[in-house]
Amino acid sequence: MKLIVTAGPTREHLDPVRYLSNPSTGKMGFAIADVAARRGHEVVLIAGPVCLKTPKKVVRIDVVCARDMSRAVKEVVAKMGKDAILIATAAVADWRPASCAKRKLKKQAMNGVLKLTRNPDILKSIKGITKVGFAAETNEMIAEAARKCREKALKFIVANDVTQSGAGFGSNTNQVTLVFPNGEYRELPMMSKHRVALQIIKELER
Ligand code: C5P
Repeated sequence: MKLIVTAGPTREHLDPVRYLSNPSTGKMGFAIADVAARRGHEVVLIAGPVCLKTPKKVVRIDVVCARDMSRAVKEVVAKMGKDAILIATAAVADWRPASCAKRKLKKQAMNGVLKLTRNPDILKSIKGITKVGFAAETNEMIAEAARKCREKALKFIVANDVTQSGAGFGSNTNQVTLVFPNGEYRELPMMSKHRVALQIIKELER
């Protein structure tokens, strides 16, 4: 298989030293890239700012903000062709500051109000290839995940309840449920992110 994996957070700068972001560490996406490459698949990993080593035999493209990530994904999809599969684990910032100052903003010049503008939905914007998404939910997990799966035209979505300990941002383990567009779902036990990655790759190999 030819896989494109997005991973990590994005950073949305308001000036050269300040940004909006989230606590994503990229572990889930890097685990998927690693497991897939070890199983002989071709992998391009598009990563936001993270402190992780590139898995062996994986081509890595580093990006900072959502718009960079969006451009990179589109370029790689165009290069890889229609049989590429996009696995979007990145925690893309939904909003960015409406403008980014060239120089550090003086705190006296800031008035406590930050104007925001929507970022592109990368996963939704890619069409015509197989796609897998991730969904961090806090309530109505299955229904919400199934809705996103249909809205973004995904093969399946990997949902996790981020209110649980040992699941989600930063941890080495995850407890996920694979949710399909028709609302069917398969709950997996708590396991390492590497094992979760293996389950996802096996589901795609099927
Ligand atoms: O809608 P929500 O953010 O919950 O959807 C999560 C899924 O969509 C994840 O797979 C994430 O990587 C992807 N996504 C994206 N671009 C965005 C927001 C989310 O690719 N701007």
